[in-house]
Amino acid sequence: MIVKPRIRGFICTTSHPLGCASNVREQADLTRALGSAAGCKSALVVGCSGGYGLASRIVAGFGYRANTVGVSFEKSPENDKPASAGWYNNAAFDHLAEEAGLRSVTFDGDAFSHEIKEQVIDELKTNYAPIDLLVYSLAPPIRVHPDSGERYRSVIKPLGEAYEASTLTLDVLKGTGRLTPVSLEPATEEETASTIAVMGGDDWRRWIDRCAGEGVLSDDFKTIAFTYLGNELTYPIYRGGTLGQAKEDLDRTCIELNKRYGGKGAEALVAVLKAVVTQASTAIPVVPLYFSILFKVMKAAGTHEDCIAHINRLFREQLYGESPRRIDEQGRVRMDNYEMADTIQAEVRRRWQAINEENLGELADVQGFAEDFLRIFGFGRDDVDYDAELSDLASVVRS
Ligand code: NAD
Repeated sequence: MIVKPRIRGFICTTSHPLGCASNVREQADLTRALGSAAGCKSALVVGCSGGYGLASRIVAGFGYRANTVGVSFEKSPENDKPASAGWYNNAAFDHLAEEAGLRSVTFDGDAFSHEIKEQVIDELKTNYAPIDLLVYSLAPPIRVHPDSGERYRSVIKPLGEAYEASTLTLDVLKGTGRLTPVSLEPATEEETASTIAVMGGDDWRRWIDRCAGEGVLSDDFKTIAFTYLGNELTYPIYRGGTLGQAKEDLDRTCIELNKRYGGKGAEALVAVLKAVVTQASTAIPVVPLYFSILFKVMKAAGTHEDCIAHINRLFREQLYGESPRRIDEQGRVRMDNYEMADTIQAEVRRRWQAINEENLGELADVQGFAEDFLRIFGFGRDDVDYDAELSDLASVVRS
């Protein structure tokens, strides 16, 4: 069959196996080209199939030659329906790891559940322990609580008062966009609590406690989770909204984990990462407009990074590197230093005020945003023949 992008808003319901495989190979090659480094031998990546989690697994594997275990929630192919992009990414990663003589295994299932934790820990005990790095990179829309069975949904809303702004609505296939108004009602207390249950630190703590309790972590293990801060333009919808509350909970969890496990040399970190186009980030209203202005400004300044460049810098400079840690007053590792540079932010602010339908393409990187979005699903690559028939949607990734 032939797979074409099927897109509705910021959702693409198809993905291309060969395009996803090429994306993964390209990231692995870029990482190898930066040279091999030491410090990480065995890693668990929770949320391994896309965005920052996938990049972390690739850097651990192909930059540090670590054996890796991955966990993610993806859809396998069914008859003539392609799998989700993350499923193809995982298959491609495991294939490349095998080719490179690295051990790797991927678990597909709900990371919040007791069952997946149990399965992963059994595997770690048998083949990977002790692990010295646990990357926690989940971006889930819902969580079924493993003890109570209660279902929590993450909502992206401001707190206190309604928020009105403009956002970017894309025609991805044409690479064009237009400005559209968004209006969001403030979250209720229940919605905020629910978002914290999904995106906060509780499950990160559970992974660490269980792994430590079962003795699969090295004494001096590192664990890292990711956050975003942004600026005053994204404040109402991100840092000052429900997501910001969940991320504050992640910060508190980090402090707690350090108290609990820091004694023997273990270290928990929260890294503030830069804005990149991923399935999770495109679901946040307003963000596409800010991101596309930011990308244009950062590309012009030569400081723009994609997931793999950013995570390579995180590992090589801050996580295992010799350079002093760039830590803020909350103890977070600041990887958003290029994004938050005064000159970049001043120019983004200027463009944000000036932007309108006529100058949208000039002030914002609408086309770059659309290309990044298509890439997530394996489309828009020059090295893939998108008109070619695919014989078997499950096995082509390995060819
Ligand atoms: P993503 O959508 O690319 O990846 C999310 C991952 O979570 C996928 O592997 C998915 O399979 C997995 N997942 C979701 N629900 C799951 C479940 N129940 N069980 C197992 N796996 C599940 O997202 P991303 O943008 O890379 O986000 C990862 C982290 O980075 C998040 O904490 C996010 O807040 C943070 N972050 C993202 C950005 C950005 O701009 N994208 C910036 C800073 C920080």
